[in-house]
Amino acid sequence: MFESEKKRGRVAVKRSAKMKLNIEGLLVYFPYDYIYPEQYSYMLELKRTLDAKGHGVLEMPSGTGKTISLLSLIVAYQRAFPLDVTKLIYCSRTVPEIEKVVEELRKLMEFYAKETGEVNNFLALSLSSRKNLCIHPEVSSLRFGKEVDGKCHSLTASYIRAQRHSNPNLPVCRFYEEFDAVGRQVPLPAGIYNLDDLKDFGRRKGWCPYYLARYAILHANIVVYSYHYLLDPKIADLVSKELAKKSVVVFDEAHNIDNVCIDSMSVNITRRTLDRCQNNVDTLQNTIHKIKETDAAKLREEYRRLVEGLKEANVARETDIYLANPVLPDEILQELPINLSLSRTQPLGSSLGPPPSNTPIPKLLVYPSNATSITGFSSSPH
Ligand code: SF4
Repeated sequence: MFESEKKRGRVAVKRSAKMKLNIEGLLVYFPYDYIYPEQYSYMLELKRTLDAKGHGVLEMPSGTGKTISLLSLIVAYQRAFPLDVTKLIYCSRTVPEIEKVVEELRKLMEFYAKETGEVNNFLALSLSSRKNLCIHPEVSSLRFGKEVDGKCHSLTASYIRAQRHSNPNLPVCRFYEEFDAVGRQVPLPAGIYNLDDLKDFGRRKGWCPYYLARYAILHANIVVYSYHYLLDPKIADLVSKELAKKSVVVFDEAHNIDNVCIDSMSVNITRRTLDRCQNNVDTLQNTIHKIKETDAAKLREEYRRLVEGLKEANVARETDIYLANPVLPDEILQELPINLSLSRTQPLGSSLGPPPSNTPIPKLLVYPSNATSITGFSSSPH
């Protein structure tokens, strides 16, 4: 390998007995026999970036081992300063790239285990869409991601599950139900999980691997997933909101970020969608028009009655009919208890005046809706 690399113009300048490197005082395990000078300087700059708690943009030719350089340095940093770096979030673009990162990580952790004899207590996992993680026999066989998402949603949405109380025949995803019942109480054991590992684990336990992974990333040391889980606000809010603030975030192939952002905030509108919108607007417009026409007559009639009512009220007020026409009918007034003296026409607070301080609580106060007088007031003790 060394000779062939030489021929290709790449010289591996450093060979460490056990490939343990000292990068400005940080012990870094590197799981390969050779290291390129570019990899060494890449790790050096990365270490300085982490020390400065800042942002870094690093460039390296493809095929020169960026991924393993990143992982080796950041894992070493995590182990050395567990309180400063609690999590590594590694964002990649495609599923094969995600899987490649996980395999490099596996190699690194195996090297750590071999060299230190420590039991690996790191939890690292990848997360991808339902399409790549679903184990439901029918849902997982659907062709497109959107179909899988839609079908899964129709089995697991909270309102659907609530309807199941009244209708137990509604379909259900047993993997989701099982995970929901017990999966959150049992942490995913330490280890390195690629998508297949998660599916195997989900099958063994009877838990949905997608929801399991979504939950497990909260306490994982390393998460490898697609840019969208961090950059697309529609997904990021669901998946990454709770992730630790002291995380190191790596965007691999970061020149794709602008495309991913544009993609996330874009909506595809087809001619068919536009036509359907137009039809809906037309229907709405016609309905409003019809309602307006039907209701115009009713409104006019209401208005006429309102004006009539106001006129009558005015006349009644002027001729005092209103006050001679109490809210309670005469026959009821006749039957009221003896201790209730009524003054139908007594204006409020006129001749009665304010009750003395030892006045007992009134037995009956009757206010017509637009009252200006008290029609009943008892000042005698019970
Ligand atoms: S809950 Fe999981 S296993 Fe069930 S349909 Fe959805 S993705 Fe598939």
